[in-house]
Amino acid sequence: MTMKFFLPDWEDRVDPNFEFVNDEFSPGHVNNSYKNDVYAHQIYSKKPVYDGILFSLSNFESKLKLGTNGNGMRTIRGISSVKEYLKIPKYSRIKIMGDCGAFSYVTEYEPPPEYSPEKTASLYSSLKFDFGVSPDHMAIKFLQVKENGKRTYKELPESERERRRQITLRNSEEFISIVKEKKLKFRPIGAAQGYSPETYADSVEKLISQGYDYVALGSLVQYNNGELLKILRSVQPLLEDRDLHLFGVLRPSYINEFEKLGVTSFDSASFFRKAWLRSGQNYLSSDGKWYSAIRIPFSSNRNLLKATSELGISQSSLETLEKRAYESLISYSRGEIDVDEALANVMEYDKLLTRSSKGEENLEHRYRRTLESRPWEKCGCEICQKNGIEVIIFRGANRNKRRGFHNTWVFKNQLMPARLQAELKPDALSALE
Ligand SMILES: [Zn+2]
Repeated sequence: MTMKFFLPDWEDRVDPNFEFVNDEFSPGHVNNSYKNDVYAHQIYSKKPVYDGILFSLSNFESKLKLGTNGNGMRTIRGISSVKEYLKIPKYSRIKIMGDCGAFSYVTEYEPPPEYSPEKTASLYSSLKFDFGVSPDHMAIKFLQVKENGKRTYKELPESERERRRQITLRNSEEFISIVKEKKLKFRPIGAAQGYSPETYADSVEKLISQGYDYVALGSLVQYNNGELLKILRSVQPLLEDRDLHLFGVLRPSYINEFEKLGVTSFDSASFFRKAWLRSGQNYLSSDGKWYSAIRIPFSSNRNLLKATSELGISQSSLETLEKRAYESLISYSRGEIDVDEALANVMEYDKLLTRSSKGEENLEHRYRRTLESRPWEKCGCEICQKNGIEVIIFRGANRNKRRGFHNTWVFKNQLMPARLQAELKPDALSALE
């Protein structure tokens, strides 16, 4: 297996000493959450949870402040290397790929000046990225815009998409010449924009002639599997031994096909995020089945308090039901009570929760399936081994992100290798189609 899997970074860390029983953060977290908290790759020290992390420079605008140290070098939270910031051990094989996060300026006419080829190349270099993607401008068909305070979609004409593709190509040319001229240490990746198999192929051809041996296709999310395959087929003959990255798309049933068409890396957060999306698929077992996580939201939730007080239920009785539901799950995991008793207590609290979306039917049935299967006991990952049933309880970031880390680990260590065995197509993969 040669295909590399990158997880996009969204500052996802958990408190390693979180106290689940009382839902309390550790003193270390309270003092300095960045210093105390850990990334998935720190929890999973035996088998890697991903091959790399995709880190967008647009993070600096939204959440992180970029600084400068005494020597004029750029810093993140006072740290002068992105790997050190992401707490990647010195000899780890995890690679860091940088991109601009073009989605953050997709509505602009041009990429803002801070994403110029020169500034971008200099940032990748000074923060010591392994790979740096040339600054691009997305050539998507539908742009989400706000009009009179309402969100609506605006279609970009083909001429505008072509204009954006050309901006991307001009940037990549300038970018690689700066990298070569200044002998920067990171490996440059040429971003290819397009809006048809022909325009993607044209972009890739130009990137190769500009000197890139690693190209990345952007704006792919809008295409269905068939369209995506057409694009890849048009690009493949140009690649020879060069590397190809797909931005933000994971079409699991097609991973083998993608690999045959020359894809060598991709990034996706789908397995991670499914942990807390509203569906019956929150926890992925090592044999490729999805399970519902069991919801026990905090009784301090304002909407819940409001809804229950209208029903004449006091805050203290709500807290009692919440505690009983949670403790029943712990007792059940220890074999102290049976599934019917645990489920009855969970559902007594659950029926007070207001639900707005569809697809919430048969929750009891799904919860029973999760509890009876006890998938957390069969998983060999560090999180399930250490935290047990907590990982399938849908409650707060410390449980939900751990479940996302677990899903990512199962994807990387069980599903990615399993896909190579011919007939095997776990339902876990098709579920993401
Ligand atoms: Zn696990």
